[in-house]
Amino acid sequence: MKQLRVAIVGLGKIARDQHLPAIAANPAFVLAAVASPHHQHEGVPNFPSLEALLQAVPDIDVVSICTSPQVRYDIAWHALNHRKHVMLEKPPGATLSEVQSLVELAERQNVTLFATWHSREAAGVESARTWLTSRQIRKVKVNWKEDVRVWHPGQTWIWKAGGLGVFDPGINALSIVTAIVPGTVLLREATLSFPSNCETPIAAQLLLHDEHGAPIDVKLDFLQTGPQTWDIVVETDAGRLLLSKGGSVMHVDGKSVVAASDQEYPRLYAHFQSLVRERRIDVDIAPLRLVADAFLNGRRVTVAPFVE
Ligand code: NAP
Repeated sequence: MKQLRVAIVGLGKIARDQHLPAIAANPAFVLAAVASPHHQHEGVPNFPSLEALLQAVPDIDVVSICTSPQVRYDIAWHALNHRKHVMLEKPPGATLSEVQSLVELAERQNVTLFATWHSREAAGVESARTWLTSRQIRKVKVNWKEDVRVWHPGQTWIWKAGGLGVFDPGINALSIVTAIVPGTVLLREATLSFPSNCETPIAAQLLLHDEHGAPIDVKLDFLQTGPQTWDIVVETDAGRLLLSKGGSVMHVDGKSVVAASDQEYPRLYAHFQSLVRERRIDVDIAPLRLVADAFLNGRRVTVAPFVE
């Protein structure tokens, strides 16, 4: 099969750390060009925008959008309008309406749209989902606590409206919860802590529940120093599940069940390849919908200003 010619848009941290290596390791894809306002990648043509890229290199097959979320919609719309297959970094848009509009455009254009949730590809997530299908959930606790100064240095877009603040990593936890808990997960209440100088929250506490009323207690914190925590604990009628290290390690009743190296992005690109071959759309808005619900229905408190 002919290699798919990829354009990366937004050559930031995630594009460099994960997308470039995953594309290089998958023979189905070849990097053909990059569009990024301030960064360039050696060995391929570089452009300041997707518009300029597609004018100069029109024979692109797929566009992988790795920008900050606030600019994602216009770029995706332009790519789909040119009948390119599109892969979206998470979150798939700054609003739910943007995502819906992109799905409709992809359908009209008969091209693939893939809203990625990389944490769902972590090694323990599918096993956890399967394990839970035959058990009754009693309660879930999510602790997603990291140091924003370590993981997001200089990323001022995170603190602007649409940048999600602590939900930028927190939505990864929600992507796992909505994948492993059967049925729809709903928001009961939320408290969002906004630094007085920021447009997005630095911490959040959510009380969610599943369709049977089992509580799902979510604590997100961007000011965690010392050990970093990306854990989900599920108590059931027949055992206790722990997904730790962002979903890559799974324990049941204290015994290790899954622990494997990180293959999240290679798996995303393998899935994207099959979606493109079948011209399918894979867009699940559940994690973004919960974040939107928290912003809609959450209590807002103002906390100390954030200074990086
Ligand atoms: P980042 O390092 O700030 O990179 C974002 C990039 O977007 C910047 O390099 C910027 O390019 C580019 N950009 C901004 N406006 C653009 C435009 N109009 N056209 C083209 N490019 C534009 O942020 P990041 O950490 O890579 O995160 C990007 C996305 O990936 C976020 O949605 C995040 O949630 C997701 N993500 C991040 C990680 C992670 O570990 N960092 C993990 C998984 C997912 P220039 O620098 O050239 O201006």
